[in-house]
Amino acid sequence: MLSRDQYRQFLLSARLTNTIPLGSACGLRCVFCSSKSDIPGARTIIPQITKEEFEECLDFLDLQHRPFVTLAGSEIVMYGEPFLHPLLLEFVEIINQRYPWVDVGVETSGAHCSPRLVKGLNRVRNLAVSVSVNTMDEQARRTYMGVDARRSVRRLLDSGLPIRAVHLTDFGEIDILLRDLDVLQPNGRVEAFVIRRIDYTRFSSPEGRALAHRSMAAYHEHLRLVDDHSDDPRLMAQLLDLDAAVGRFGGMQRTAADGAVARLLDRHGTDLYMCCPDSSYAYLRRKLGDMRLVRVPNLTFGGSVVCAGLLTFRDLRSALLGGSGGGPVAVGSLVGIPANMLNPNTQDLFGETLYHFQQETGYRVVIG
Ligand code: SF4
Repeated sequence: MLSRDQYRQFLLSARLTNTIPLGSACGLRCVFCSSKSDIPGARTIIPQITKEEFEECLDFLDLQHRPFVTLAGSEIVMYGEPFLHPLLLEFVEIINQRYPWVDVGVETSGAHCSPRLVKGLNRVRNLAVSVSVNTMDEQARRTYMGVDARRSVRRLLDSGLPIRAVHLTDFGEIDILLRDLDVLQPNGRVEAFVIRRIDYTRFSSPEGRALAHRSMAAYHEHLRLVDDHSDDPRLMAQLLDLDAAVGRFGGMQRTAADGAVARLLDRHGTDLYMCCPDSSYAYLRRKLGDMRLVRVPNLTFGGSVVCAGLLTFRDLRSALLGGSGGGPVAVGSLVGIPANMLNPNTQDLFGETLYHFQQETGYRVVIG
């Protein structure tokens, strides 16, 4: 559990995406929760935010350029349930009153939706709710999520509140996925459906890993079947494999990556060896033609982790010197690395500094 001082530091991350973390408790026990794949001892437990902290945090957000606030567990640790916070309704009211032009997003599992919450949220202006339903299959919910809670989820989905997105999970069983869509698609209040696969790291439990393997093996085929099954234009698929991504989130990541790479190319031309995680390699290769790209597998976390923010200098060393990224890169070369693998002190997740990496390897590094 973070101390109050550590937590106040942590709240600084809210400005990155205008997401205010309300607390990491969630009340479910999903086998596939990303918290179960963290490095041992590194799980971040965050306390519930106080009203005073919430108001300070709100003042700190960039609402002029990004007129929305998302209330969630956290954008950084990907777990936590806003409906468990006793002051949630008070918080959205404060946002509405102070910033009437700002959209209020709430990301929830729906498992704790009470009639009182529905009534209160119905009074909120500019509200958009995202619901991580995962599945409406009773057996799968009990097996993979620990708790059924379909009644509460149903209450939320049928409440008339604007539902921005419903997230479903591919457990590797197409019958479940198709049944979920049949049950949920007729709800005209849902703007979009997102189908997720399950990922794992080398710290995942054997159970979580086996489930992820089933999900990943079936995922692309299942998306095709879902596509055949439905002609609903709201159906979206969020793929972590950016090469195949067709979703809103994949699109945003591509845009961000495109911008960063274009700036680096502009400045350094094709002398640069651009390091990228597995996830964006095929996409950038196709898009950037003769740019020198180094594919960096995530050896540190292993599994199916494809996020640039989880790469470490150890991974870069292996790809650049050892050639795991497609051939050794000569010492002294100019190397571009993703900015989001570094903290503000230019350290990676294990505290190794950029300075140390450069001294030890002899590469000249630019951050993209
Ligand atoms: S609901 Fe979300 S945060 Fe809670 S256990 Fe499941 S995946 Fe994790």
